[in-house]
Amino acid sequence: MFIHKAYRFRIYPTKQQTELIKKTMGCSRFVFNHFLALWNDSYKKTGKGLTYHSCSSKLPALKNEYEWLKEVDSIALQSSLQNLADSFLRFFKKQNKAPRFKSKNNHVQSYKTKYTNGNIEVVGNKIKLPKLGWIRFSKSRDVEGRILHATVRRNPSGKYFISILVETEVQPLDKTETAIGIDLGITDFAILSDGRKIDNHKFTIKMEKKLKREQRKLSRRALHAKNNGINLLDAKNYQKQKVKVARLHEKVMNQREDFLHKLSTEIIKSHDVICIENLNTKGMLRNRKLAKSISDVSWSAFVTKLEYKAKWYGKTIVKISRWYPSSQICSECGHQDSKKSLEIRDWTCSVCHVHHDRDINASKNILTEGLRIQALA
Ligand SMILES: [Zn+2]
Repeated sequence: MFIHKAYRFRIYPTKQQTELIKKTMGCSRFVFNHFLALWNDSYKKTGKGLTYHSCSSKLPALKNEYEWLKEVDSIALQSSLQNLADSFLRFFKKQNKAPRFKSKNNHVQSYKTKYTNGNIEVVGNKIKLPKLGWIRFSKSRDVEGRILHATVRRNPSGKYFISILVETEVQPLDKTETAIGIDLGITDFAILSDGRKIDNHKFTIKMEKKLKREQRKLSRRALHAKNNGINLLDAKNYQKQKVKVARLHEKVMNQREDFLHKLSTEIIKSHDVICIENLNTKGMLRNRKLAKSISDVSWSAFVTKLEYKAKWYGKTIVKISRWYPSSQICSECGHQDSKKSLEIRDWTCSVCHVHHDRDINASKNILTEGLRIQALA
């Protein structure tokens, strides 16, 4: 099976390369904004927008008018137009808001370039990009597959990254002839029907507290600058703190990604059938009870990873209804006990008298129900 896979690495451009990257981002932004204005204008006048092709055909004239556009990767400018056209498309499908003008003060700056005729290449710990030549990057994994495109990003903390999208072939993993149920928990991140509890919350809570503290400090500095009539862009202490918050956020996100990748891969490798609750609504219900932003994102990101990895490696995900009373049923005898509030962490079945850990019992029920559904399918 052929799949698309993204690699992300930190890159270490030289001073000259950094200048050119900044210039390319600036030019991409300029092109985006220029055509966004034309697009909006066209709406006002004719009630109709433009298209990627109509913009693209005007690009050479724009380049002649602004010679400096010729200094940068021309594919990046084309991609910028594609990005604009896609944004409008999503807007019409009501998937996002109308495209807005990009500012050089935006949090993340980026540009995208496409592979053509060997213009992007990875050799050792260096990557070749159009106009930039070879850039050193920190190589944590081998890049395998056919390169489709690459995106260069500058994070708020001032670091540069590259995302490389490749097309590659994956082989199904060996069958293990086992199935597992997973309950996404509140005190633990996930509870498996084999009795394992996977805890990541301590880390999350600690980092979130730290992040909140630094964010409060940032707001105080913003207020201080405002009270003294200083523009935020010139407020040194504010800017310093902003970078600090961005770095911390980055760290939290990277560690979270790493954790979710390892856990999902391990589960997919070890089992053929993975039974899980249908999260959509349940996730939102939980959301109201405990507003832990990172955990909430983690749950859905985890399920997404399980789903695509199952597809890649020939495994099966079975989703069970959110109405299924996984925490009320006794996994031992099947008796449906009363509704249990969240504080009840363990209980004894009134029929078979088996004592249950609430979450492990729920994950066992999720497994049973998942296998029942799978047998029907
Ligand atoms: Zn029982």
